[in-house]
Amino acid sequence: MIIAVDGPAGAGKSTVAKLLAKRLGFLYIDTGAMYRALTLKVIENAIEPSDTERVIEVARSTRIELVPTVDGPATVLLDGRDVSRAIREPRITQSVSIIAKISRVREVMVAIQRSLGNTQSCVLDGRDIGTVVFPRADKKFFIDAAFDERVRRRHQDLINLGVIGVSKDAVAADLANRDTIDSTRKVAPLKVADDALVIDTTAMTIEQVVARMFEYTRQ
Ligand code: C5P
Repeated sequence: MIIAVDGPAGAGKSTVAKLLAKRLGFLYIDTGAMYRALTLKVIENAIEPSDTERVIEVARSTRIELVPTVDGPATVLLDGRDVSRAIREPRITQSVSIIAKISRVREVMVAIQRSLGNTQSCVLDGRDIGTVVFPRADKKFFIDAAFDERVRRRHQDLINLGVIGVSKDAVAADLANRDTIDSTRKVAPLKVADDALVIDTTAMTIEQVVARMFEYTRQ
């Protein structure tokens, strides 16, 4: 069984997708972490994110793995190295959408996501899961929230991760920028799948959102 969870940054997708997966006993796959890991490698190799040909070469020669942990988020391995924390740094967040726009990069990532999903029941979160990666997913969700609330949540996430010195204004600018790039790109733009259940989480608690998703999944 495949459950697709899409939506913009900061809407709480990964939090609820992870909890839903746990409740169902499914594997949770954070597809954004894969684009982030690739972005880290590009930056570490001093390649400009806009240098499409070189970024594609890196995508094709990189091993990205998501290793589930008992309770916390999956460990993200980049060529065998644990980069779970490094991929959340603002320098990665700033460049990831430029890299995720490249269609041949997406082909590589989508192939990995499909191979993971074809062998076991999963909850996948991302931008194009219900529209492109698994258009025939058993259940699809689009998790949204008001812009100001997304900024508040993402800012709090950074504080929780120990990333200090990032202002709310900087978070707002990043979210607005990623929203624009992710939803206007030619390949696999962020949009609501026709058959997705849209949940506006602005005034909902995490527990309420997960309960709604769980109920809908069991229908
Ligand atoms: O989910 P997260 O905010 O970590 O994703 C980081 C970026 O990766 C997104 O802003 C988007 O550019 C890209 N992404 C994507 N397709 C996905 C998941 C993430 O293009 N399925």
